[in-house]
Amino acid sequence: MAGLLPSLWYRRAVQTTSPRARVRLPLVTSESRRAVHELVPADVVQRSSEPLADAEGRVVRYLRLSVTDRCDMACTYCMPAGGEDEHGLREELLTFEEITRLVRVLAAHGLRRVRLTGGEPLVRRDVVALVQKIRDAGIEDVWMTTNASRLAALASPLREAGLVGVNVSIDSLDPDRFAKITRGGRLASVLAGIEAAREASLALRTNTVVMRSENLGELAALARWAWSIDATPRFIELMPIGEGARLPSSERVGAGEMREALGSLELETSDAAADTDRGPARYLRSKRDPQRRVGFITAVSDEFCASCNRVRLTSQGEVRPCLASRRAVSLRELLRDGAGDDAIVGALRWALAGKGAGHDFAITPRDASSDVDHERVGMSLIGG
Ligand code: SAM
Ligand code: SF4
Repeated sequence: MAGLLPSLWYRRAVQTTSPRARVRLPLVTSESRRAVHELVPADVVQRSSEPLADAEGRVVRYLRLSVTDRCDMACTYCMPAGGEDEHGLREELLTFEEITRLVRVLAAHGLRRVRLTGGEPLVRRDVVALVQKIRDAGIEDVWMTTNASRLAALASPLREAGLVGVNVSIDSLDPDRFAKITRGGRLASVLAGIEAAREASLALRTNTVVMRSENLGELAALARWAWSIDATPRFIELMPIGEGARLPSSERVGAGEMREALGSLELETSDAAADTDRGPARYLRSKRDPQRRVGFITAVSDEFCASCNRVRLTSQGEVRPCLASRRAVSLRELLRDGAGDDAIVGALRWALAGKGAGHDFAITPRDASSDVDHERVGMSLIGG
């Protein structure tokens, strides 16, 4: 049998918290980075207007909404060379109307912030109109995470549609190194996008994934440059997710070493975050100018799962309670089968009830006996 189906394997469906749950045994290719679906029991309809919370009591205030699984770059830690080979078909993607309906339902249950992501969100046609629709659905705090390659033309319309700010991914200020990390990205386009964002008065943060052999020596320069354009720089620890898991572990740089590399910036040593909803980043202020901060997103060396207040929705309508897991509940069929809001809320609560307490990054599939599969999570399919 194994000889007949060399590329196929049966994967045990993920454990669920509900003994009544029916689960699907998916047949997936051994290389698949797609979600592993759970089927929601029919009796989870919920009439409660209580905020949405997971099993650990973490209330969901923040939705990361992936609007496409496509991208115009292929960063070495995120996307396979040549891009994903399992893109969603057009009819598999949620329509703007479907997305807006979900946002409206979530907003009625405590959601306060939406971040558009991807793949690259700016490659989805009419993304400006989607921003406007999300605002109209009751969310004022709408942000985007983008590689900015197409931002030069879109920054101003996005601002007019109600976008508050952008997190721009930029891993180097050296054009050659930038092209190498992004497999062909043009730094000049990204810088033009950033300039347009400034002119449009979008709030600006930069995201840099730190890799020892690539850009560790550039962190201080990146932070100073970000400050010079009134952006808040943030440094992200390389996560062993998808392509990131294929890079040598020696590339990973923990929180302590990042701070050492930024020594010349003279940062405070304790957390500056007085923010009510700071998300996963820890911020340190400059001793010389407290208005200037540097963010650290260090999921591996400084796990922040206990304060995770977010849920992820893929472009295909899958709720992904945790980035580190392929476990997902699809809302698309519910939406297309004419389900009422109560059924959607019930499915969301059910999905969240099974969210784990932590990410298990320390465990690899080679030594795991169960459902640890972060190495097969497609980052660009979820949106970070
Ligand atoms: N294309 C957009 C961008 O690059 O900003 C949005 C999607 S991207 C998947 C979202 C974020 O995930 C980016 O900031 C990217 O640097 C980060 N990311 C992707 N793979 C990662 C990994 N293995 N470890 C840490 N961060 C990663
Ligand atoms: Fe594309 Fe963003 Fe992934 Fe880079 S990090 S490949 S820009 S989705």
